Amino acid sequence: MRCPWCAGQDDKVVDSRTAEAGSSIRRRRECLTCGRRFTTFERVEAVSLTVVKRDGAKEPFDRAKVMSGVRKAIKNRPVTQEQVERLAERVEEKLRRKGPVVTTQEVGIEVLAQLRRLDDVAYLRFASVYKDFQELDDFEREVGLLLQKRVPSRPRSG
Ligand SMILES: [Zn+2]
Repeated sequence: MRCPWCAGQDDKVVDSRTAEAGSSIRRRRECLTCGRRFTTFERVEAVSLTVVKRDGAKEPFDRAKVMSGVRKAIKNRPVTQEQVERLAERVEEKLRRKGPVVTTQEVGIEVLAQLRRLDDVAYLRFASVYKDFQELDDFEREVGLLLQKRVPSRPRSG
């Protein structure tokens, strides 16, 4: 690590401790050239997970979005907030194994797989909109509609 004082290339670590609630390691280093000390932080590199929508648009995976969709499906069901969080974590874990790029369909399928283990009714609610949903935004909107009221089908012209 190059010394910020003298640009010397050699140093020794004099102290290491975890920081930021365990998500990084803080090291105090002493420059072997000038003897002055400086600090470095070591962090796990955030590996990105990208979701490709049907129209080809890409966006970073958002666990909050999954949770928001699932929350609508579990309305009035005996499923706790904690279970929803764990479900979303498991979905993310599975997707990261497939990643770094997944499709919205893969996200939906994984949510379904996890939801099935949790609650049948929520699973069916989710599945009934999933077959048509094109992207997570659409999905969230449609689940919302489904749970409010059945929307009368559009009159056919011809
Ligand atoms: Zn130095």
